[in-house]
Amino acid sequence: MWKSVAAAPADSILGLTEAYKNDPNPHKVNLGVGVYMDNTGTTPILQCVKDAERILLGVEQSKSYLPISGDPQFGRQIQRLVFGEGSDIITNDRAATAHSPGGTGGLRIGAELIKRFRPEAATWISSPTWANHRGIFTAAGFPIKEYPYYDAASKGLRFEDLLATLNQVPAGDVVLLHACCHNPSGVDPDEDQWQKIAAVAADRGWLPFLDFAYQGLGVGIEADRTAVTAFAATGVDFFVASSFSKNFGLYNERTGAITVVSPTAEEKNIALSHLKATVRVCYSNPPAHGGLIVKTILSEPTLEAHWRQELAAMCGRIVAMRQALVDGLAARGVNQDFSYIKRQKGMFSFSGLADETVAWLRECKAIYVVGGGRINVAGLTSANIDYVCDSIAEALR
Ligand code: PLP
Repeated sequence: MWKSVAAAPADSILGLTEAYKNDPNPHKVNLGVGVYMDNTGTTPILQCVKDAERILLGVEQSKSYLPISGDPQFGRQIQRLVFGEGSDIITNDRAATAHSPGGTGGLRIGAELIKRFRPEAATWISSPTWANHRGIFTAAGFPIKEYPYYDAASKGLRFEDLLATLNQVPAGDVVLLHACCHNPSGVDPDEDQWQKIAAVAADRGWLPFLDFAYQGLGVGIEADRTAVTAFAATGVDFFVASSFSKNFGLYNERTGAITVVSPTAEEKNIALSHLKATVRVCYSNPPAHGGLIVKTILSEPTLEAHWRQELAAMCGRIVAMRQALVDGLAARGVNQDFSYIKRQKGMFSFSGLADETVAWLRECKAIYVVGGGRINVAGLTSANIDYVCDSIAEALR
């Protein structure tokens, strides 16, 4: 079957991690991989997760199937997290949520669902974006188009171009947006800009699909939902894919959700029926453990408060490392202005390092950065920050 088939290309970021693991240099630093690391360079299990698992061990009675869309209490808690307590969407019962295998599973289920009812639609993705966006929506059968997003010259958003393009998107097409912590650039629209984008969606009739993979890792849980709130206020249909890989540290539990928002509760019920039908033919019903952990934490005020603390600590460490990198480079007499790194949000940063510098850092210093210059700021620690700053300063000299 496979003799005459060319091998599929390896995932470039996972390949980088493999090369990092095999590198014998004792000073090696991995700024490529997309997971949070603490100040010791490890990806920890949150204490609130351990506590929830202890509770689950005592109360879980059965491993029988979950409902197709997951535990209903999980869905309710996710809606509270995504939209905020007292949101009109919750009060008027306008959202259907299905527990999905990770944010990736949520994106794919959302894409499959839309494809059933919008077979002619294209999906618009930001230029640049997380590589899997193109892969997921292509796999679901959508032609892909790009809207302008990141401006390499100003290290900011191409907001006017973005808005002009979104104004031309045909009604019915899907526009995939990073709700916060844009991956790979770290550049997000501000509140006013989100409101303008949402107004264009309402005016033009394209379908917003928000990828919400980093809630709580940009500014905070509430501030990071600015985009969601802007679309919610318009009353239009929209989709939100949540991931709990980063903000709960549940990477290998594959825990996420897909939420479909409709203008009325009646329409939501129809959407829910088709959401379930889509899940049924993809993976039948979700894996339980990660969702039970999230549900347990969000249903128990003490655990939720603890989670918020731990998440704020992760977010705070990322912000502190951004500052340390910018200050460290300035202290070494690097002339280039890196202050934009402090303005970016989330784990990722377009560092502005050229591909030759990225290659030099890897070959000569064992510092691993993704091509294009994206760094995972959470890969910086108090033990490696001086080495990284020294190395970048040397490269730029
Ligand atoms: N969306 C974006 C922008 C991401 O960066 C990621 C993970 O890196 C995901 C979605 C998917 O996350 P998950 O691991 O939960 O599938």
